[in-house]
Amino acid sequence: MEVAAKVAYPGECCGILLGKTAESSDSGEIEVLETREAPNLIQGTRKSTHFKVDPLFLYQVECEIEGVGLEIVGFYHSHPDCAAIPSNEDFEYMVPGLAYVILSITKDGVKDIRTYKKDMNY
Ligand SMILES: [Zn+2]
Repeated sequence: MEVAAKVAYPGECCGILLGKTAESSDSGEIEVLETREAPNLIQGTRKSTHFKVDPLFLYQVECEIEGVGLEIVGFYHSHPDCAAIPSNEDFEYMVPGLAYVILSITKDGVKDIRTYKKDMNY
């Protein structure tokens, strides 16, 4: 993830977290086993603090992991020169139960990495 964020800088990077959700729990614990970098549809157009994963890419990944015991457990994206805090739009598009990792990056490298989750009851 950090490498992807650096490569994409000053643009945003984004990707998918693949793994498993703990079966037994309400704690909603997840285990991330793989990350998959996604083409960011808005990359390069302007500096922004939101992202959009290509639905086609998402579909391809879903097909790929079907049957191998992995599932999409969340998403990550970078905030170039911005704090690792979800923008209103980020928050709006969060799916409850999924993990959202935001990397804050500047020209000096990754500054902060935070994970957010929207409450299931929200
Ligand atoms: Zn964002």
